[in-house]
Amino acid sequence: MLKKKEVFEAQIKAAELIKKSGIKISDEEVKRIEVVDFGLGNLQKEGAQILTFYSTNRASAKVIVLFPYQTLPEHWHPQIGNDPGKEETIRVAYGTVYLYIPGEANIKEGFIPKGKEEYYTARHEIVMKCCDQITLIPGTKHWLQSGEEGAVMYSFSTCARDVLDLFSDPHIVRIPKIEE
Ligand code: ZN
Repeated sequence: MLKKKEVFEAQIKAAELIKKSGIKISDEEVKRIEVVDFGLGNLQKEGAQILTFYSTNRASAKVIVLFPYQTLPEHWHPQIGNDPGKEETIRVAYGTVYLYIPGEANIKEGFIPKGKEEYYTARHEIVMKCCDQITLIPGTKHWLQSGEEGAVMYSFSTCARDVLDLFSDPHIVRIPKIEE
């Protein structure tokens, strides 16, 4: 479980990286940066900091911040009823992002978090820097990691229903619990 202090510190650190990226956000938005440890209890290793600019029933725009070598765990956006699932475009604004999708295994720059091999099945590495972007079709398994400077990226997508995202690691809880 995340401590309030840990969330606060992560928000400040994420805001510094966002500033470096050139993306402008307000002080009020800094307080809204969502700090997610996915219930795994090791934020710096597996986690993400996410600021949602807007999220409606049809579309959403977010900024995702990864601290140095932090990994956003493997997940996918499933079909829900008539909705084919979230289509997501990742555009890097700062740092280096290692994106992994299914395909030929070629991991070279990044790494699978230790002991988590079975939960990271997408092994095709794509190295992205500013201002690279990629559109992931719904249902594609993906995970992300940042290099040594950390990373800031936009995530533009169709309707985001984060609670319904599916993760390869069954221990993951998407909505973080925060304690005093
Ligand atoms: Zn995603």
